[in-house]
Amino acid sequence: MARDPKYDVLFQPIDIGPKRLRNRFYQVPHCIGAGSDKPGFQAAHRSLKAEGGWAGINTEYCSIHPESDDTHRLSARIWDEGDVRNLKAMTDAIHAHGALAGVEMWYGGAHAPCMESREAPRGPSQYASEFETLTYCREMDLDDIREVQGYYVDAAKRSRDAGFDIVYVYGAHSYLPLQFLSPYYNKRSDKYGGSLENRARFWIETLEKVRHAVGSECAIATRFAVDTLYGPGHIEVERDGIKFVEMADPLVDLWDVDVGDIAEWGEDAGPSRFYPQGHQVPWTRFIKQVAKKPVLGVGRYTDPEKMTEIVTKGYADIIGAARPSIADPFLPRKIEEGRVDDIRVCLGCNVCISRWEIGGPPMICTQNATAGEEYRRGWHPERFPKATTKDAVLVVGAGPAGSECARVLLERGYTVHLYDSAEKIGGHLNGVVTLPGLGEWGYHRDYRETQVVKLMKKSKQSQLMLGQVPITADRILAYGAEKVVIATGSNWNTDGTNCLSHEPIPGADASQPDQFTPEQVIAGGKPLGKRVVILNADPYFMAPSLAEKLALAGHEVTLVSGVHLAHYMHFTLEYPNMMRRLHELHVHEMGDHFCSKIEKGRLQVYHIWGEGSKRSYRGPGALPRNVNGTQRWIEFDSLVLVTGRHSEDGLHRQLKARSGEWATNGIKSVFLAGDAEAPRLIADATFSGHRLAREIEEANAQRPKPYRRETAVWGAPHMPGGSFEIVYQK
Ligand code: ADP
Ligand code: SF4
Repeated sequence: MARDPKYDVLFQPIDIGPKRLRNRFYQVPHCIGAGSDKPGFQAAHRSLKAEGGWAGINTEYCSIHPESDDTHRLSARIWDEGDVRNLKAMTDAIHAHGALAGVEMWYGGAHAPCMESREAPRGPSQYASEFETLTYCREMDLDDIREVQGYYVDAAKRSRDAGFDIVYVYGAHSYLPLQFLSPYYNKRSDKYGGSLENRARFWIETLEKVRHAVGSECAIATRFAVDTLYGPGHIEVERDGIKFVEMADPLVDLWDVDVGDIAEWGEDAGPSRFYPQGHQVPWTRFIKQVAKKPVLGVGRYTDPEKMTEIVTKGYADIIGAARPSIADPFLPRKIEEGRVDDIRVCLGCNVCISRWEIGGPPMICTQNATAGEEYRRGWHPERFPKATTKDAVLVVGAGPAGSECARVLLERGYTVHLYDSAEKIGGHLNGVVTLPGLGEWGYHRDYRETQVVKLMKKSKQSQLMLGQVPITADRILAYGAEKVVIATGSNWNTDGTNCLSHEPIPGADASQPDQFTPEQVIAGGKPLGKRVVILNADPYFMAPSLAEKLALAGHEVTLVSGVHLAHYMHFTLEYPNMMRRLHELHVHEMGDHFCSKIEKGRLQVYHIWGEGSKRSYRGPGALPRNVNGTQRWIEFDSLVLVTGRHSEDGLHRQLKARSGEWATNGIKSVFLAGDAEAPRLIADATFSGHRLAREIEEANAQRPKPYRRETAVWGAPHMPGGSFEIVYQK
């Protein structure tokens, strides 16, 4: 099918300085956990997007010098010849598919903790980072300014040598150029501080120098947070924002604009829980009014209608995307080929971002199980190895794991029966998406539903069996499938079992009329009283989401949490607004408290640090600390137990116990996938189903095949110096 002509504007080429983008789809810089240290991962992940139709593809933030070292997180680096060589693998692979490669040159100032290099970062003034722990920068004098600008120039030359077409001077997310521009950081009284003209001087001079060095060979881009969203005393778009664009426009070939800063960069990479597609437009739309150069903006654009509107209404010339390009690297190609309903729409869950926030691990994606697996496992998101056997597969459970497993098996040409007692594909996600703000997570189910239904139509023997009676081990044995995948998921504990005591809580019992599991609250039907206590030992979204839901419904909600409430939401950038939300809804939080027992209408809570801080050996049967004496009772009308989950693996256990009957029933193997193996993130349950479907013919397919590890291998020279012997200083 050809593309719908209404999207033609998205496929018009556009010139940026000496280079031409072949269309308006542009992967803005985003982290993946590859940097310059995993060149295979970097080259494979980025070039796949070139193959998928993106016109411009960037590195993540790329440090220009050891003084800007973000360890414990993982940036790219263009410090030396080794980095040039590693990043050239990426640019070559991108060029092979006809796209342009960009590098985001980054100097972090106080936001770079330099834990590996142990250097002292420099900044416009001395301050402690509001983002990074225990990191100050040193105030630059005029010599320092020249030296750091020289770092940009040297890095730009190395970038050109590495084959980059687009070279950024990166000033968004409060990194160095913006630190000079913003009075929040810049307290100088010389010609680099004070007036806007003075505060802009560092950035403008750096652009001039970089342009002079590589501007005839590379397009010069700059990334600019046009409003840091803190009001006066910071960058506001209608004050310094548009004025800076007017001043720097002659030096820039491409404006890459966004909003926010680094401490709350969830205002830029907005989670769908709080922000819809295109949420930055009210701020970024001003830039096209003053810039003479092409402008690109981001906003989790996945819908071609919305993208077209952004260009035709003159808000931006180019559609920038990070997360949509991760969830679907073939998004432009699918629009081009008229296959819009095949797009894997980004959920806006920010689980991809969570891995960068945590530190080093490779990026994962809830929607796209192949993200991060391109090089190390050789997984292509749109191509699947053909089935090597004629085995029919029965997949029990159509949640994230089972539906993904079935989809990939069908893509591979297997006969699949996908069986569920529920009426709908989606498993536990069908409940989760009814929680406040989580509707867009339903795209996960929608994509699998669309694909499984389409693929089943092509596969005559396959069958989608929803709304069935719960299947039993007897029926599975008699079913006639050669392979069986048990993807029956997990449920919340009904007896209060939790990660603190690893035991049930005396008196906890969700079969009582005044006690609830999250599923029971979501399903409705069991009435909740006015005063609700949510007892939490889960570090992600369930407890705060239920608190929001119940507070909105008029309940008085108290959250008693024995673990850091919503800890994982720091990593998904949902935490700040989640806390603001609970605060505005008057949800009362009792942090560092958990529960020792429950009676009708009340629970006994204790402070988790209430024991003595000194320990001594007191013999067997005695606690080596003073006994916790902080217990007290609090009352509830209804109690919600968000204490932990357990796998629903009963079917698998029963089948394993009857493995002697498999052969006579024609069964070759039985596997366990997703939460039924162990409760986990939706992304990991999806991965689990996907992985099993790709490797189902392996002798021990329950266990993953080894993946390629890009580690330094002894005997290969390290950079710089080219030597691999141990050489001590004399
Ligand atoms: P995951 O996240 O691992 O995919 P979910 O809990 O989301 O797991 O989904 C599990 C699915 O399995 C649910 O839709 C549930 O209805 C289904 N299921 C569980 N046990 C059975 C059974 N015995 N027969 C049929 N379907 C089942
Ligand atoms: Fe989108 Fe979530 Fe995938 Fe990130 S992890 S790209 S937010 S679906």
